[in-house]
Amino acid sequence: MRKKIVAGNWKMNKNLQEGIELAKELNEALAADKPNCDVVICTPFIHLAKVSDIIDHSVIGLGAENCADKAKGAFTGEVSAEMVKSTGAEYVILGHSERREYYNETPEILKEKVLLALENGLKVIFCIGESLEQREANQQNEVVKAELEGSVFNLSAEDFQKIVIAYEPIWAIGTGKTATSDQAEEIHAYIRSVIEQKYGKEVADNTSILYGGSCKASNAPELFAKPDIDGGLIGGASLKCADFKGIIDAWK
Ligand code: PEP
Repeated sequence: MRKKIVAGNWKMNKNLQEGIELAKELNEALAADKPNCDVVICTPFIHLAKVSDIIDHSVIGLGAENCADKAKGAFTGEVSAEMVKSTGAEYVILGHSERREYYNETPEILKEKVLLALENGLKVIFCIGESLEQREANQQNEVVKAELEGSVFNLSAEDFQKIVIAYEPIWAIGTGKTATSDQAEEIHAYIRSVIEQKYGKEVADNTSILYGGSCKASNAPELFAKPDIDGGLIGGASLKCADFKGIIDAWK
């Protein structure tokens, strides 16, 4: 059975002290009220080692928001997958639309990042999703298929099972505009069918596909009730413990 997951993406928010406070608060809240799903928080690099010491990893997984496309060496300012892993993190988000758009991360670069993350024992939350223009031109299916083919369909079936897919329509990220649960379910089912064509039914059935894009406690229950939506990747609403916990509780 595939995992139900609620993952937070803090993006470039929270200084170290604020991040530690949020991680402590969430750790306490989930110790008091155990979640019915896997919970992951993806934090800025500088928070990882400290947050790793604070959280109960049997309840909260830890992830980075990015890693380098090179293993090591003279790449000033970069952080490798091996470094991420050495902090105690278990996950890394790759392919987020903000990285693709603002930092020119191409499918080829992402392919390298995915390989390095897996080589270093990290699980990858791989983001895909169309822009508003692409949605209006009804190109969303071909966009997500191409994103999968471009960066993760080179993997063996065994390695592909270390990937969590996050479908994030770009027009819904941080905009307050959520895909309807029917819109999201339609494309999640399509993504699963594409995975099935490539890796077979068992792998497709075992792949967690998260929805991301203005997901909050008020809309999470309806989204998560859909058969092909296995949880959420949460930006803005992961920055306050009560908001994030509200989404986690949508699985109850
Ligand atoms: C995200 O960027 O991964 C995201 C889903 O953001 P938000 O929840 O703020 O729309």
